[in-house]
Amino acid sequence: MTDRETIRLKLETWRDELLGRANRIDAHLHRDEPVPADFAEQATELENLDVLFALDREGKKKLAAINTALQRIEAGEYEICSCCGQSIENARLHALPTTDLCAQCAKTQ
Ligand SMILES: [Zn+2]
Repeated sequence: MTDRETIRLKLETWRDELLGRANRIDAHLHRDEPVPADFAEQATELENLDVLFALDREGKKKLAAINTALQRIEAGEYEICSCCGQSIENARLHALPTTDLCAQCAKTQ
């Protein structure tokens, strides 16, 4: 298996995990349950929703980055820095599979 395939599999596994989690969060956010009558319970419920919304936002951002990386692999431009056009270091791609910048450009941005 080539490096690129290893990374692609990693990205796809990661994406599937995030999608699974997003679906569970969605199911939780859209369930039909009566609002608790007790004020303290309402507050707890709202805090839980806040945490879920934050997770959801984070997850969606990561998903978008993963999809972009997968598209870049498809297009054959995965290891090309989107800023300077030089190739991105292999070790960097392994450590940060969703990056589209070489170490030098990431430092200066
Ligand atoms: Zn660069």
